[in-house]
Formats: sequence, C-alpha cells, structure tokens
Amino acid sequence: GSIRPDAESEAELAFEGALRPKSLAEFVGQRKVRGQLQLLLQAASMQNRTPDHILLAGPPGLGKTTLAMIVAHESGRPLRMTSGPAIQHAGDLAAVLSALVPGEILFVDEIHRMARSAEEMLYLAMEDFRIDIMVGKGAGATSIPLDLAPFTLVGATTRAGLLPNPLRDRFGFTAHLEFYETAELEQVLDRAAALLDLEVDSSALSMIAGRSRGTPRIANRLLRRVRDYALVHRTSAGLEAVDAALELYDVDGLGLDRLDRAVMQCILTRFDGGPVGLNTLAVSVGEEAETIESVVEPFLVRTGLLTRTPRGRVATPSGWEHFGLARREASVP
Ligand code: ADP
Repeated sequence: GSIRPDAESEAELAFEGALRPKSLAEFVGQRKVRGQLQLLLQAASMQNRTPDHILLAGPPGLGKTTLAMIVAHESGRPLRMTSGPAIQHAGDLAAVLSALVPGEILFVDEIHRMARSAEEMLYLAMEDFRIDIMVGKGAGATSIPLDLAPFTLVGATTRAGLLPNPLRDRFGFTAHLEFYETAELEQVLDRAAALLDLEVDSSALSMIAGRSRGTPRIANRLLRRVRDYALVHRTSAGLEAVDAALELYDVDGLGLDRLDRAVMQCILTRFDGGPVGLNTLAVSVGEEAETIESVVEPFLVRTGLLTRTPRGRVATPSGWEHFGLARREASVP
C-alpha cells in the first residue's frame, strides 16, 4: 500500500505509460529545461547530426524517462532503454553499444549505478563513438578496437553529483529537474483525469496537487487511489474522497510520506533537531544513505523543514512546528 515511486507494480507501470506526454509541448512545467532541449534538438536537426549527449538529473518521478522518450520522438530517432544496475560488466555495455543503429538514442536510467569498468568504456564511446574490447587474459590479452554507430546518450540520475567527473563532463548538456509547483501538478492531474475519463472536482484536484510531494508520478498515483476510493465507496471523487485516500495512504498535510516523516522525527526526537550526519541518519531510520540524500532530503529542504549544514542536517523552526514539537533550547530559560 505504498505510493512511493519505487513501488512498481505492472499495473502502475502500464498506467504511467498511458499518461506519459509524447512531446515537449505536452510536457508540463520545467520551462527552462524544455527550452534548452528544444534548442539542442533543433540545432542538431539543422546540422543533420546526432544531438549532444544529455544528462537528466533530479529526484524520481519528475519526468526523466518521459523526457528521454520525448527526445527520441521529437528527433524522430529510435530509442533503446537500459539501466545502470543492468550493466554489471564492461561486456554488458559493449553488447548494448555495438547493437545500436546509427542515430539511435540510448537511455540509461540510474546511470550512476553502472559498473566502474563500464563507465570507463563509456567515456571513449561518448567521445569518439568507439570502444576497445579486451580479449583474453594476462600476458596474452589484446584489445580490439570497434567502431560504433553515432548515438546520443541520455543518462538519468537522481543527482548529478553521484557521477564521476569524467563521465559528467562528457555530457553536452545537463538538465536539473526541479520539483513541480502545485499549479503545475494541477495541470498534470487535469490532463490525467481527462485521459482516464475521470470526473474529479477541481477542488479535489488542487488538494491532490498540493500533497503530491512536487512530483507528477505521485500526483498521478494519488489520483488513481482517489478514483479507487470513490469507486468502492460509491461516492464522487471530491474532497472527501481525497481526504480519505490521503489518510489511508499515510500522506500528511504537506504531502510528506512515511519515510519523510521517519527522517524528520528521527532528527527531531533522537538528535534534538540536529545537526546529524547523513550516515548516522541513514542507519537510524534503516534506509540507504543514497535514498535519504537524493530522494528524501531534497523535498524536505524545498519544503523548508530541513537545512543542510557543513556539520550535518538540521531541522528548521518550521520542521519543529510541523511535527507539533517544541525545540528543547526554546523551553530552557
Ligand atoms: P522519472 O524517470 O524521473 O522517474 P518519469 O518520466 O517516469 O519519471 O515520470 C513519471 C510519471 O509522471 C510519468 O508517467 C508521466 O506521466 C508523469 N510525468 C512526469 N513529468 C511530467 C510532466 N512534466 N508532465 C506530465 N506528466 C509528467
């Protein structure tokens, strides 16, 4: 019963696919990134060459995969998709790269999780459309150069900082995706409701939008839960259904989910508001440091509940307030 982006069931994926915008014009928000991509694609098309490699950085569910598909669609090129965790050895990458057709867009999701040896192979591939394949072992090992078809790499990562510099530097353009404003999420939801043929009050849509963690994927999923609720309880998809569904799925008034709250509560109650280091925090809530850092924290920071300082994470006055707690310092005269 989680609405977190990592809970991927087949039905959820099919649902997401159906709602994916197919063009830059349909893609809501991220105005800056859209303009930048538009220019990059247009210039490449005028010069009849493959577009520069593109890195898309930002928390899950903000539209990285969707943008990769749009890049392929808008430039009229085929798309091949893989992910960092699927590339465990340089050989895995060699197989993918050597199978590319000229001009293909290669999307590598979670590119920061690719094997080191593959990363090194990728440098050369990105720069010169060439790789060296090692054959044999020890003294008899030789490397065989292999020319590749020109391609455009579109990499996605939750944080650009997770990539080694040499890899990051080989992207012609890095797009930093931001959390969406509530008004933008309303547009996302409006579009989704129309596509799914759902009748939902506009006040209900606004409420979902305001509690979706600034994330289109979460907004769309909440919409579906509200639809379920209205269906099962034979009510209209209005404010009451939204309220009930949000409560059922543990989404609070600011849109924080269970893990967001666990992190805040840990900082507030166990560490007296901080500062607390990332790794200590991760161990305390039983979650990977990378998840805390690139999924949980960005939203807590943007909501103004948490700040990052050189000494660690610190809860802000709004952070204390949201959890109905008084700072200990404040109660000491
Ligand atoms: P990411 O790859 O960053 O995790 P996705 O591209 O898979 O995110 O997006 C998740 C879902 O959110 C998609 O199904 C898509 O329908 C929706 N979505 C994301 N960004 C937008 C947007 N800008 N406008 C409309 N829908 C969006």
